[in-house]
Parts: sequence; structure tokens; C-alpha cells
Amino acid sequence: MKKCPDSIVTDIHNYLDGDLEEEKEKLLKSHLQECTGCYQHFHELEKAIALVQSTSHVTLSEDFTNKVMAALPKEKKTISVNRWFR
Ligand SMILES: [Zn+2]
Repeated sequence: MKKCPDSIVTDIHNYLDGDLEEEKEKLLKSHLQECTGCYQHFHELEKAIALVQSTSHVTLSEDFTNKVMAALPKEKKTISVNRWFR
């Protein structure tokens, strides 16, 4: 089992903020393709953000994101990665 880079969570955050360098974005996406745990992390976070954005115009604080991250399930096994990456 591969070890995930420590920076992956930061990269996910930056990506969702639309603030990730192109190089890192590529690395992030290829990692998400092969890492179920991180993909699930990313997907749940994105869903949570989309939900918040669709219901209000609250600015996402770092604190909020941390709370979302803390509330997320650690890992799920049944994910169709190909749904996301074509
Ligand atoms: Zn990972």
C-alpha cells in the first residue's frame, strides 16, 4: 500500500479553492485515481462544499473546512473513480 503524501490534503483544499498550480493539479488527479482513501476524501469534501454553496453564499473559512474534513468518513471501498476522471 502506498503512502499518501502529507501535502495531499493541502492540495485538495487548494484545488477546490481553484488555487492549485497546474503541475500539482496533475499530480493530485493521478493520485486520486489510484488512491481510494484520498479520492473519497476529495469527493466528500467537494460534495459538502457544493452543498454549502448551493444553499448560501457563506465564505468557507479554514475552520469550516477543517470541521468538514474531520467529519468525513476515513475510507470507503466502493467508488467508481472513472465516473470522475475521463
Ligand atoms: Zn492517497
